Amino acid sequence: MDFSLTPEHEMTRQMVREFAEREVAPIIKEYDRAHKINLDALSRMAELGILGICIPARYGGAGMDYICLGLACEELERVDTSLRVVMSVHVGLSSLGLLQWGTEEQKQRWLIPQARGERYAAYALTEPGAGSDVAAIVATARRDGDVYVINGEKMWISLATVAHDFLVFARTDTRADSPHRGISAFVVEREMAGVTTGDIHGKLGVRAGSTGWISLADVVVPVENRLGEEGAGFKIAMSCLDNGRYTVAAGATGLIRACLEASVEYAQERHTFGREIGQHQLIQQMIARMARDYEIARLLWLRAGWLKNQGKRNTRETSLAKWFATEASFAAASDAVQIHGAYGYSDEYDVERYLRNAKGACIYEGTSQIHELIQAGYALGYRKDRPLPCELPPYEE
Ligand SMILES: Cc1cc2nc3c(=O)[nH]c(=O)nc-3n(C[C@H](O)[C@H](O)[C@H](O)COP(=O)(O)OP(=O)(O)OC[C@H]3O[C@@H](n4cnc5c(N)ncnc54)[C@H](O)[C@@H]3O)c2cc1C
Repeated sequence: MDFSLTPEHEMTRQMVREFAEREVAPIIKEYDRAHKINLDALSRMAELGILGICIPARYGGAGMDYICLGLACEELERVDTSLRVVMSVHVGLSSLGLLQWGTEEQKQRWLIPQARGERYAAYALTEPGAGSDVAAIVATARRDGDVYVINGEKMWISLATVAHDFLVFARTDTRADSPHRGISAFVVEREMAGVTTGDIHGKLGVRAGSTGWISLADVVVPVENRLGEEGAGFKIAMSCLDNGRYTVAAGATGLIRACLEASVEYAQERHTFGREIGQHQLIQQMIARMARDYEIARLLWLRAGWLKNQGKRNTRETSLAKWFATEASFAAASDAVQIHGAYGYSDEYDVERYLRNAKGACIYEGTSQIHELIQAGYALGYRKDRPLPCELPPYEE
């Protein structure tokens, strides 16, 4: 067993860390306060190859492995969650979905521009009436000769007002024997007639990110835009989540580290009762928990990344990594605010933003309750992974 990072991993980590520290950290508060996405940062991520980091070079990517993807997410979220969310939806949920399920033509058409960062991608599964219960979606895609006509509303979609390509899930068979079977996946382009989008306002966190709605009104989509077989949409949606959740897990690990670093610094400068607060055991307890959870979260996402590199199924491991890291990051952020006292309660310090951002990750890409159920299902033997028609390709050196 080898726990060390390769020179490529170290190089990627350093490159993303420098980008985040130099170009994002100084301005993130401004964007967060303004509830505005930093589109210049997305362009820079494209230039640096981060938006296609683990996509093979022949499909326009940087050709790094899945550990590099995790390291990039950890470093981005150490500074701010919103850019890691971009990685989750653009790379994790969308581009990797195309890599896994797309035909060669679909990869040429959508994956290459996405990996180069020329087109941004979003993942549109959730609807106003269906989140955790994916099989309850009601958007429809009616086949009409060589096209499908899509109608429906998608809600809580990251990058809704920014993305060029949407991976949309809609019901192609309203009478399927099981609601899971009647769903199909499509690449819908913003330019298509009948697509309108808008932002959701008043969010608790990820304020420097775009989260919105998509309305699909009689959108005519060629059959060539269907990803996978008709009716395979549920499986595709779930396999994409295996990748998105991985990026969330690695990112949340970075957030725990951010909380730890901020808390250690503050605990060594703030004094009460004649000594720095880091000398008080109850402060030490909170810091010790952050240090412990950072190490656990890191090992869990690294194991999931190792499985991905081998091309091995990792639904169970990724779910565990996501559940643990997001809950631990919320606890770490809450303790970091506590350690900062009243100052932690204002946006003078970053920790209040960490707390607001951490909550979202306990909700999206499977709520903590859904991950608890998944883990219980595996432990009790109620849940087993069946082979997929096509698995995520292993990392090719
Ligand atoms: C910032 C943000 C970004 C998002 N980005 C995207 C995106 O890009 N694409 C996308 O498709 N979606 C996105 N979502 C939506 C997200 O995936 C859903 O919010 C999530 O799946 C939960 O669905 P819901 O909000 O409808 O909650 P519900 O499913 O209605 O759940 C409500 C509560 O009930 C609990 N619950 C539900 N079922 C059970 C059960 N069986 N047992 C126990 N408890 C249960 C849940 O855990 C939760 O606490 C985003 C959400 C947020 C907040």
